[in-house]
Amino acid sequence: TGPTAPSAATRWSPPGQAFAGGRWQETERRTAVTDPETGAFLGEVADSTAAEVRAAVDALVDAFRAGTGADTDAGRGDWPLWRRREALHRAADLLRQRAERFTAIVGSEGCKTIRDARREVGRAAETLQLSAGAGHALQGASVPFEDTSRGADRLGWSSREPLGVVAAITPFNDPLNLVAHKVGPALLSGNVIAVKPHEATPLSALALAELLLEAGVPGDRLAVLPGGPAAGRELVSHPGVDVVSFTGGVRTADEVARLAGARTLLMELGGSNPVIVDHDVDLMAAARAIAEGAFGCAGQNCLSVQRVYVVARHYDELLGHLTHATAHLRVGSKHDERTDVGPLIDVAAARRVEHRVGEAVARGAVVRAGAVRQEATYQPTILTGLAPDDPIVTDEIFGPVVSVLPVADLDDAVNQANRAATGLQAGVFTRDTTAALRTARRLRAGAVMINDTSDFRIDAMPFGGFHRSGIGREGVTSAVVAMTAPKVIAARLT
Ligand code: NAD
Repeated sequence: TGPTAPSAATRWSPPGQAFAGGRWQETERRTAVTDPETGAFLGEVADSTAAEVRAAVDALVDAFRAGTGADTDAGRGDWPLWRRREALHRAADLLRQRAERFTAIVGSEGCKTIRDARREVGRAAETLQLSAGAGHALQGASVPFEDTSRGADRLGWSSREPLGVVAAITPFNDPLNLVAHKVGPALLSGNVIAVKPHEATPLSALALAELLLEAGVPGDRLAVLPGGPAAGRELVSHPGVDVVSFTGGVRTADEVARLAGARTLLMELGGSNPVIVDHDVDLMAAARAIAEGAFGCAGQNCLSVQRVYVVARHYDELLGHLTHATAHLRVGSKHDERTDVGPLIDVAAARRVEHRVGEAVARGAVVRAGAVRQEATYQPTILTGLAPDDPIVTDEIFGPVVSVLPVADLDDAVNQANRAATGLQAGVFTRDTTAALRTARRLRAGAVMINDTSDFRIDAMPFGGFHRSGIGREGVTSAVVAMTAPKVIAARLT
């Protein structure tokens, strides 16, 4: 389906095709954004050219220099911390007031169901509010110069300084909140930032830019540059960029790292998140949580449950509950309030999942539910009979597919869970507190949720993974720390 009439649901179109250089831009190349499910035309945005990306970053470099007093005598007074905090608070308030409009934008571009879109808007407001409150992360420390004989006549301290220009690249699956996770901390800490949202979901980022301007963010501190991989490559290669903050797939991350070279890299990548189920838990409740964690957002979530390790004697029972809970999920249109599982981002993504499941079945996997594709929708799928190292178990699928494997005990489960190349999040269900803590300590994951699945996060916690799941940590406070560095000032007293 080609573009059709403007969707009445959005009732918002961007004031320009990109925001750069402190104003909305009429850009050279343009592209239509459509609702991937209905084909409805949603708006026109830039397909940012190399020259446009370069000009936008040049302008940010100038704005940062001016704002830090490097080029002027204005000093840091231009947009001090208290004003940054107030603007972000106002932005959080405005986003709550405009929740319906933003829900319509997030729910029409991309692939979120309307209920998930609504949840995301609430979380994005929280992310902005947490960003406003993250000033404490900028606290410095006194440096004990007198601890050395050469320093004894000096008094000094370190403060946290913004690194400069942040280049942010975001994925399609949380088109608003993952932008807020980069923009909020960057602005609060005094950086300037250019965002290149995913080509399928640029409207949420543009709408957020409009809201931030209204909340009092100076236009020269922020740019939103819609475009595809080419615009992304141009952005991360620009010599004026100080920090590359990337969220997306591991293969893209490798190319981004190559292009960016020796600069500060923050990378939030994928995982193949395990959940471990012990013998002493409410298996039905665990199964329900697993079905939600594996199939919510049609599995297009970096925290999705992809592998379940259950102690062998409860394997059949858990599988029964999981199949039952899965059968009760409503698969349907993302626009229907009753839908639990909507389509994938596009038909190609659903075909990719279909292909990988087909390969697994050829290797001996048994299909317990799903494994059926219709256009972009893939039925929630449960697989068993897999070897522990089967790629459908260990390599991120980013679709509604979960594998269930029997284990001897929790130690066996940890050993199997730790064999993947990634380590983003994990979950463990057990009533035994000591076993829970021992398991949590041994699991190689950025976070372990006890008595829940991997699919839980609050926006304040340090967030990121070990091994190939990324570099550094996001989460508002951690991002403020990551986007700043200590600077020492010392005075000689003689
Ligand atoms: P992707 O890697 O295909 O795209 C991410 C972004 O990178 C997009 O904006 C895209 O346009 C851009 N891009 C693509 N090629 C580029 C290049 N060569 N240079 C610069 N930019 C380029 O990822 P996706 O399909 O949008 O998202 C899915 C992936 O993101 C999954 O692996 C998922 O686990 C991961 N993810 C991680 C987190 C996290 O916080 N850990 C959150 C959400 C998604």
